[in-house]
This record gives sequence, structure tokens and C-alpha cells, in this order.
Amino acid sequence: MTNGFNDFFSAMINNLIARGISWAKKVVEEQAKEGRLLSDSELIVAKKVGVRYPERIRIVFVDQIPHPEDPQLLEIAQSYGLSFPSMIGLALGYTIFIRNNNFSEKLLAHECRHVYQFEQAGSIESYLQNYLQSLLPNGYANSPYEKDAQAWEKKGQS
Ligand SMILES: [Zn+2]
Repeated sequence: MTNGFNDFFSAMINNLIARGISWAKKVVEEQAKEGRLLSDSELIVAKKVGVRYPERIRIVFVDQIPHPEDPQLLEIAQSYGLSFPSMIGLALGYTIFIRNNNFSEKLLAHECRHVYQFEQAGSIESYLQNYLQSLLPNGYANSPYEKDAQAWEKKGQS
């Protein structure tokens, strides 16, 4: 049995996810080069949370975490609990954005755990596909990816 509404809904969700992924890839392409490598002690944090290639990570300090310009994307993200204005860290592939004056080992461990999750998924596309799908039933606060990253905040610290 087909359900026209469900087909429409899932096509819309897939379209939003695809737009989110292309936004993320563009941000990484434009801004990864602005980042710095991890220090020796930060490399230890990244290794502790399971990152395979910590030397590939770049940290970009910003006044505001980058967010999609697309208002529809921004609004739907917000409705699932992804609030860009209140974010202090965001990992996109090997690029970690940290809002100025918010750096801590705890935050680094959290974002590095997202890098680990991305490495496990194999690409930004598959990771974001999985991550964004996980928000649909759960919302940000209950996403298994976020729960996992939170669980590693303490374990990752030196
Ligand atoms: Zn997180």
C-alpha cells in the first residue's frame, strides 16, 4: 500500500537532508584551511575518544558557529533542537568549529567524538545522513550520536 502523504513527507525530509549536506561540504571547503592543527595534549584527547587520524583535525575559532543561510533549513534544524545561535562547537568531518572563549577539553572531547563517529560512517555524506535522520524521531537532546558524544566528554579529558 502506498501512502501519498508519507511519500511526500519523506521526499521533503530527504531534500532537506541533501541541502544540509551540501551546506556542510561547502562550509568545510571554504573554512577548513583557516583552522589550526591540534596541540600535543589535544591530540591525546582526540586519540582517547577514538579518532583514528587526529592529525587531520583542524580547529577553527569563530565568533559565531557557521549556520545555513537557507531560512527553511535553519527553521527545521531549530525545530529538532539544533539551535545554531546557541551552539559553542560543531564538528563537520575533520573540521571543528569552536566559538571564541568557549574552548575547553570537555568541549574538545565532545566534538572529537563526533569526528570519530564521522570516521566510522566513512564520509561526511553518510555521517550527516545518519546523524540528521537520528534527529527525526529523537530530537537533538535524545539523538544517540549526541548521547554518545556526551558520554565521552569526561572519558576523553587528560
Ligand atoms: Zn554534539
